[in-house]
Amino acid sequence: MEFISSSSSKAEVMRKSSSRFKTVCVFCGSSSGKRDSYRDAALELAQQLVSRRLDLVYGGGSIGLMGLVSHEVHRGGRRVLGYVRMYVMYVQLTGETIGEVRAVADMHQRKAEMARHSDCFIALPGGYGTLEELLEVITWAQLGIHDKPVGLLNVEGYYDYLLTFIDKAVGDGFIHPSQRSIIVSAPNAKLLLHKLEEYVPVHDGAVAKAKWEAEQCLLAP
Ligand code: AMP
Repeated sequence: MEFISSSSSKAEVMRKSSSRFKTVCVFCGSSSGKRDSYRDAALELAQQLVSRRLDLVYGGGSIGLMGLVSHEVHRGGRRVLGYVRMYVMYVQLTGETIGEVRAVADMHQRKAEMARHSDCFIALPGGYGTLEELLEVITWAQLGIHDKPVGLLNVEGYYDYLLTFIDKAVGDGFIHPSQRSIIVSAPNAKLLLHKLEEYVPVHDGAVAKAKWEAEQCLLAP
């Protein structure tokens, strides 16, 4: 029988309950999709965040997978922070709000705030909005604007074609092979969070590391 000292069992408890992250930004569909597995994956991700004592930043909607994740994280007692544009804010006020909702001027500010207030990003299945948000934070990682891990929750191979396309772009010389590892993917939330915890940022010496503030200056009108 393996001997476990009290200090090593304490360390094990610490390992299980602590995370290098505090807040996770989730991108996901404003629809729920047609398969139960997408809804199950959204709930499982939310439960993983709660069990790891992580807070949620997201797009602020209460519909589709967004609603499922935010409800479940909120129900689990963690902080839920949604960034919405004024119009969506209005829609939210006439409907249901989950956790804390902050209004932003436009979609650019919304994405910047979501990114600024989180320690890593996870994309669940979704449509154009999810893809756009995902690809933007990947591009920012490539440029060295942030070095926060980016995870793809590849539920039942939903993102297989995207990953195949990215491999094609690497093969054809449009994405540097070293940048391929920016995307961390896994079929379930538990494995994905484990991989994100272990992630070591890619640093391309050829690209100067821009400061987040510098990016904000560039984006300012
Ligand atoms: P989609 O994948 O096209 O359904 O878009 C979902 C993503 O875009 C989410 O991660 C949100 O950040 C954003 N989004 C799209 N629709 C809404 C909405 N009605 N309310 C809030 N955010 C939305």
